[in-house]
Amino acid sequence: MKELSKQMANMQVSSVRKLTQHALAAEAAGKHVYRLNIGQPDLSVPQEYYDHIRAFDERTVEYMPSNGIPELLEAVSRYYREMDIDMGHENIAITTGGTEAVLFTLLALVDPGDEVIVMEPYYSNYNTYFTLTGVTPVAVTTYAENGFHFTKEQVEAKITDKTKAFWITNPGNPTGSVMTEEEIRIIADLAIEHDLYIVSDEVYREIVFDGRKMTSFGFLPEVYDRLIIIDSVSKRFSACGARIGVVMSKNEAFFAIVSKLCQGRLAVSTIEQHGAVGLYSTGTRVIHSIREEFERRRDVVFESLTKIPGLICKKPEGAFYMICKLPVEDATDFLIWMLKDFEDNGETVMAAPADGFYATEGLGKNEIRLAYVLEPEKLKRAIEILGKGLAAYQARK
Ligand SMILES: *Cc1c(COP(=O)(O)O)cnc(C)c1O
Repeated sequence: MKELSKQMANMQVSSVRKLTQHALAAEAAGKHVYRLNIGQPDLSVPQEYYDHIRAFDERTVEYMPSNGIPELLEAVSRYYREMDIDMGHENIAITTGGTEAVLFTLLALVDPGDEVIVMEPYYSNYNTYFTLTGVTPVAVTTYAENGFHFTKEQVEAKITDKTKAFWITNPGNPTGSVMTEEEIRIIADLAIEHDLYIVSDEVYREIVFDGRKMTSFGFLPEVYDRLIIIDSVSKRFSACGARIGVVMSKNEAFFAIVSKLCQGRLAVSTIEQHGAVGLYSTGTRVIHSIREEFERRRDVVFESLTKIPGLICKKPEGAFYMICKLPVEDATDFLIWMLKDFEDNGETVMAAPADGFYATEGLGKNEIRLAYVLEPEKLKRAIEILGKGLAAYQARK
């Protein structure tokens, strides 16, 4: 047979799903597995989503306008207006999940060989699209010890002739860090000074804790000509399966390319767009309850983790993830061992190995990412099992 695509053969396997086969085997063997590996919230989807879908009674399911149905463009525009971010229908395109927004943004921005500057550890699924578009992610390494924050010097040192954009995730997945106003300023100023784009993935925008104010590059009109915002209903409304995302920009040349890409894939699901109108109609009600629920969970997880000897982590500031440094050499080996060889009363835990979230080879080997997407009682139990497992794993060696 002829060889398949070399470029795609080199694409990395999802670090979040890498251990799935071991989890399935553990479950087949009768173990209960607490899954903290994937960031899929378990909260109920707002009723309005189902109401809007049930109310759809067209005779056919037609292609809708490629940039999205007017009702949804209006709902998204209103949602932003209410937080003083001015994005009109002509600045918004609805996409099949935030993931397609990532793809279209890269396709519109880069040619192979261009660079984007990204803080590592970062959302590993970006790598799929970095590989696909041939862009080189240039990583600014951030550390658990200081909550994954960065300095101007660190970022500035990474700018080259090939840099096209800053690629920002705020709040951060997998770090749970929320950029300070100073960090936002650093990126904005460097982008203006060096004529770079800012791509800001803000799918966790409202999930910020301890009374922190929500931050967004959308609050800075002086960068509007170079700003692209990526968003999604997945995390904000617990609706990952709806597959509705958003890409927004006031840069007309950028938006014209995105519109062509939207036309090329014809349209986004008609029914799901109606469901999403229902989601946005909930205003801030759902958003507030989600923030409170995850703050409660963050507290439970963090408090339980502090009881585990040798484990290093900082209290997350937002989103629903955290990175923990473990007192082991190889976190992947430990996680597989937890699934294959460990149980406590018939139960065990699965997390994601963190090395896949780093672009720099060798980093994150002793780290894991936890997604605290279970009820507090279950989380408490899961972290207890993690602690027992770590002790048993170390005793074994
Ligand atoms: C989940 C996630 C997305 C996009 O998810 P979709 O379900 O495709 O909308 C984008 N960025 C980050 C950082 C995420 O965690």
